[in-house]
Amino acid sequence: MIRCPSCAKVYCSQAQACPGCEFSPKKIDGFSCWAPEVALGGNGFKAEYFEHLATVEKGNFWFRSRNSLIVWALKRYFPSFRSFLEVGCGTGFVLQGIAKAFPEAEIIGSEIFVQGLKFASGRVPTGQFLQMDGRRIPYQNEFDVIGAFDVLEHILEDDVVLAGMYRALNPGGGLVVTVPQHPWLWSATDQYACHVRRYSAADLHFKLKDAGFEIVLSTSFVTLSLPAMLIARRRNAGKDFDPCGEFHLSGWIDRTLELSLRLEQRLIRMGVCLPIGGSRLVVGRRRVI
Ligand SMILES: [Zn+2]
Repeated sequence: MIRCPSCAKVYCSQAQACPGCEFSPKKIDGFSCWAPEVALGGNGFKAEYFEHLATVEKGNFWFRSRNSLIVWALKRYFPSFRSFLEVGCGTGFVLQGIAKAFPEAEIIGSEIFVQGLKFASGRVPTGQFLQMDGRRIPYQNEFDVIGAFDVLEHILEDDVVLAGMYRALNPGGGLVVTVPQHPWLWSATDQYACHVRRYSAADLHFKLKDAGFEIVLSTSFVTLSLPAMLIARRRNAGKDFDPCGEFHLSGWIDRTLELSLRLEQRLIRMGVCLPIGGSRLVVGRRRVI
């Protein structure tokens, strides 16, 4: 269902316009825009970053490994979901992996910047795409699963986003999020990426529970390669900071790091919740009542 941003009437998501006030989202480049005033730029992310991201994702261990962890979590906890919304789908790299693993599911990608949607819709031709502000999700009781992968740390009002995702899920529906972890890992890389925070597990758990979610899995990842990450970020600082330093790794380093993430994923699949790591994965569920 859609909750009309103009008159608050709740109506079927298939309708073209609100039956109460005839509101319909503005179209930009063919995408329905629920927050058109921020569709072409704004705070929280550098829109020109998409082009660079789209070229490096496939060749970088971190993006590939995160995809396999997310797809595993979906298969493990929500194997028969029928609809999936990604909040902040960026260039669609994760959504592409999900669409491939769940060809029967209805896949919806949302992004605040229309520039990202152009990449994403090219990558996932079977998906539906819309522009929206994560702090004003226009849905209510609509999706079986919602995901936000390295998105919450860009948004000051993350509590508002979580509350909106809770509302947009069907009762019993699932939430899968990944975030950068440990405030003590804060570096120039976070600043460049427009992060407003790195999470502690306690902070993230508190916010999820406060929004109403029940937590069904919480684990760190990027654990074994954490020392390497720490050293790399300490070195990559000051006036010589290279924002792309972590993307352009030589082939053997990339493969070694991927191997270390594959090893820790094996542990996670066995039920081990890793206490520390550069990132955290949390799976939550909206309560049935
Ligand atoms: Zn209306």
